[in-house]
Amino acid sequence: MKDIIEQYIRDVVDFPKPGIVFKDITPLLAEPKVFKLTTQELLLLVPKDIDKVVGIEARGFIFGSLLADRLNAGFVPIRKPGKLPYDTYEEPYELEYGTDLLTMHVDAIKEGERVLIHDDVLATGGTALAAAKLVEKAGGKVVMINFLLELSFLKGREKIKDYPVTSLIKY
Ligand code: AMP
Repeated sequence: MKDIIEQYIRDVVDFPKPGIVFKDITPLLAEPKVFKLTTQELLLLVPKDIDKVVGIEARGFIFGSLLADRLNAGFVPIRKPGKLPYDTYEEPYELEYGTDLLTMHVDAIKEGERVLIHDDVLATGGTALAAAKLVEKAGGKVVMINFLLELSFLKGREKIKDYPVTSLIKY
């Protein structure tokens, strides 16, 4: 199954800048059977007793909301600054040069809720770590951080070693 999914992930060299090989999942999203299969395979990796699935802007929203639906959980978007309309918690994360912020609505997660974080790609792990911190600021428990793809050579798992981590496809 994984090898079928892998065939629908396109490497785009030098995007968004020279030296980066971008993992483009749009061919996978465009193929109905493979799209469905990917959701089913991700579901096998995650716990079933989840209150909220947190998706990270923007590609984390796609399978994040599908997982939330299948798990009968709520969906919570984590976004870049200035996008969420209500009061937010903020958490910095590292970029190659400098830092940026991730934000989440203050009432998105209730004290003690069991939370699954989802994003499309685990690279250095900085984004996922900031997302986990946001969930904890709201009083939620990060039960798992799940990815469609993991770029193992960037060792992102080391940054999020305090949390259970799963990914469907590892490079
Ligand atoms: P990081 O914080 O380094 O783990 O970066 C993760 C975020 O950047 C995720 O939201 C990914 O969507 C995106 N990202 C990083 N590297 C890639 C890549 N090679 N291909 C596609 N997306 C990437």
